[in-house]
Amino acid sequence: MQEVYEKFLSESESKAFNLAHRKTIAFNISRYDASVKKGKLQYSNLDLAKKRAGIIKHKVLENLENYLKEFDLNISSRGVKVIWALDAIEARKAVVEILEKHHVKLVVKSKSMITEEIGLVECLEKNGIEAIETDLGEYIVQISNDRPYHIVTPVMHRSAKDVAEIFNQKFGLPIDSTPEEITAFVREKLRDKFLKAGAGISGANFIIADPGAVGLTENEGNGVMSTTFPEVHIAIAGIEKMIPTLNDLDLFWPLLSTHGTGQKVTAYNSIFTGPRQKGEANGPRFMYVILLDNGRSNVLAQIPQRRALSCIRCGACLNGCPIYRNIGGHAYGTVYSGPIGSVITPHLQGMEIYKHLSYASSLCGKCSEVCPVGIDLHSQLLNNRNYSVVNNLVPSIEKRGMKIWKIAMKNRWMLDLPPSNVKNFFVKKLFGKTWGKRRTLPVVSKKTFGKLWKELSEK
Ligand code: SF4
Repeated sequence: MQEVYEKFLSESESKAFNLAHRKTIAFNISRYDASVKKGKLQYSNLDLAKKRAGIIKHKVLENLENYLKEFDLNISSRGVKVIWALDAIEARKAVVEILEKHHVKLVVKSKSMITEEIGLVECLEKNGIEAIETDLGEYIVQISNDRPYHIVTPVMHRSAKDVAEIFNQKFGLPIDSTPEEITAFVREKLRDKFLKAGAGISGANFIIADPGAVGLTENEGNGVMSTTFPEVHIAIAGIEKMIPTLNDLDLFWPLLSTHGTGQKVTAYNSIFTGPRQKGEANGPRFMYVILLDNGRSNVLAQIPQRRALSCIRCGACLNGCPIYRNIGGHAYGTVYSGPIGSVITPHLQGMEIYKHLSYASSLCGKCSEVCPVGIDLHSQLLNNRNYSVVNNLVPSIEKRGMKIWKIAMKNRWMLDLPPSNVKNFFVKKLFGKTWGKRRTLPVVSKKTFGKLWKELSEK
């Protein structure tokens, strides 16, 4: 537990003071900001759209069990096998069993954070199954043994020059290759994999109760190819990805693309309702949907924090967050980073291990302001803090400190009594190693406020 926290502190510090890293992030986020500003112009009333999306997601979460059953019933009727996975272990096991059943040795994967969440690629490798990332960003992450930096833009921390260097080292491409040349090279390299793969694995941006479908949105077309070329398609979806009907995509797809990348709508939007049906020429012969809980029920059980499950993973709160902009995605040490990651990770992976993330916030409210489904993220961070105090998860030294602070604040004379040099000693002792490390600590005045006030009043 303590190691996770200390690693977070040291990584945050090293990233926050790495000027090259900050420069790359600032540049990439400034481009994002500019295109989102333009993208939002498509709305005559964005607030209303956000409100409607928030209400729909609220309705879904209040009736999630029924929507999930409806989804299962509807999509199963067209030959899809739905598997309910309680945790990452069950989900990985289900995938391996499906692949073994169909004798699959090569898998093409479209971009999906949920497969990162369950550690799927590593698991497949251990089972002798090759899994190739087909999203360009994820492909770069894979060939450079990196981790996704951001839930929408996995290589946000890399400049065009960094990427060219990776391809130079890995494949001998010219060091000054342009993004277009690199894209063409990857496209050529992946074409063969799409044709040879026995299965395609995708996530799901949305699962749709009526008529029972999986919605996928992406910009490169690799998702379409991963899910339609191979004989088997496995979609892994978090149970919270539910929306009630197809019509709701009309609202959610543009909201997701505008807040994710600034586009009016993403380039490729697919709706999968099942495997190839009689008389159809294309598409997989077998389709599986794995519905993953993996701690989401824990969030659902917390009524104030339940709203966090409305997230459509657009990444806007990450890009807006002053903490994320400084420490970047890797410092969090989690699959989901930024404000939404800080809210949900403690519930998904253990509050006692990840509670510190809820404290790593300036509570400025920018995350809540930019969220397209109106999640009050900064309040959720406070709810998590409250949860960890109520459930006795804060260190005893902090509890004692708060008790003393409360008594002192309620009794003015206690604050006034010690001389200023004693107070300065304690300020240094208590905060010197944390706040004082890079800042000049405040010096307590020789005269207390009460004394100054009295003197002024007597003048
Ligand atoms: S919490 Fe809101 S802003 Fe953040 S990723 Fe989810 S939908 Fe986007």
